[in-house]
Amino acid sequence: MSTSSTLKGVSSIALHTASQSLPEHAHLNPIFATSTFTFDTADEGMQRFAGEAPGYIYSRWGNPSFTPVELTIAALEAQGILNDNGTPLELKALLHASGQAAMSTLFLSNLQSGDAVLSHYSLYGGTHEILHKVLHDAGVTTIIVDMQQPALVAAALEQHPNIKLIHIETPANPTIQCIDIAAVAAIAQQYGVKVSVDNTFATPYLQQPFKYKGVDFVFHSTTKFLNGHGTAMGGILIGKDLDFMATKATKWHRLLGGNSNPFDAFLLHQGLKTLELRMERHCSNAEQVAAFLAQHPQVVQVNYNGLPSHSGYAISQQQMKHPGAMLSFELAGGLPQGKQFIDKLRMLTKAVSLGTLDTLVSHPASMTHYGVPREERLKYGITDGLIRMSVGIENIEDIIADIAQALK
Ligand SMILES: *Cc1c(COP(=O)(O)O)cnc(C)c1O
Repeated sequence: MSTSSTLKGVSSIALHTASQSLPEHAHLNPIFATSTFTFDTADEGMQRFAGEAPGYIYSRWGNPSFTPVELTIAALEAQGILNDNGTPLELKALLHASGQAAMSTLFLSNLQSGDAVLSHYSLYGGTHEILHKVLHDAGVTTIIVDMQQPALVAAALEQHPNIKLIHIETPANPTIQCIDIAAVAAIAQQYGVKVSVDNTFATPYLQQPFKYKGVDFVFHSTTKFLNGHGTAMGGILIGKDLDFMATKATKWHRLLGGNSNPFDAFLLHQGLKTLELRMERHCSNAEQVAAFLAQHPQVVQVNYNGLPSHSGYAISQQQMKHPGAMLSFELAGGLPQGKQFIDKLRMLTKAVSLGTLDTLVSHPASMTHYGVPREERLKYGITDGLIRMSVGIENIEDIIADIAQALK
């Protein structure tokens, strides 16, 4: 299988990483619907188990439908990044059944009882719950600071020497807050603490956290923009310590049983091929939607990285190629107007999740964050009238017309 280190462009990498020498001269990598793999002799089996001969053994451990996806996403995250000695950065990726499965491997392979993890306000709900429920019960403490102020990161590391991992989500759910990856990674390096970045909202097309030396892991829910079509769940953990990824992370991945499946991996692989094209359209539509909302009298606030009024504007200009396709906004009429807005939509899709081809609209106060006490969510900026939107690739005039009529 080819690696794409010589290819420069995102679409070339997405299309041609691992596109050669496929079985039966197949054009696309097939769906290998098989749980186990045969060996011709006992010796061959032993060598494969010992890692001395290449080849697959059992699909919880790996499957030829997963490999091209892992190689492609690793190549996209590494694209154009050089090591200190000038050689191209090499990464290893492990594909999982879902983002939550990849997150479990990340946290459980890096943290043990007595350790602490440092993270920030306003995170994906599932991440928040793994930290505060699963890790909490496993004896791992979560410390939350506002990482928009990197000085607070240094103070926390100073105060809690048991912090082993800093977990960042940028841009973050649902207020599109941004964190300065370079600043946090530099502080983490000083203290010898590992850093993981949830890059789900940005994708490697818009943001490459491994550009910053202190970043050890990148995480994606591939369910979102990487798949791009809303056809399959998936998650991926990418690391630059190849030894750690091949030993401990691989071990935990296999033992926790969060393996992907051949069909979902195939769907993800097809989605990856149009990442650049899709993101360009998603982002240009989002910029126009944000501009429309920002001047609308019914809208009191728009959270979008492309607007100078947003807290993430300066940081996103510095670390992202475009401001992204995710935004949220606040209606003057609060909760009743938020619900009414959603009910009145004709074309845009009412659903949680994000990163699908069509525009998805959700209302955190009555949906994803319904279970969060009001005071708690207000602290995270998740107000009663907040609407979250994953801007799709429909024609912009239709998107804006639908929003305009629903705001009337
Ligand atoms: C969806 C999502 C996850 C969780 O991924 P699943 O694929 O739903 O398990 C984690 N982080 C972010 C930012 C997400 O949007």
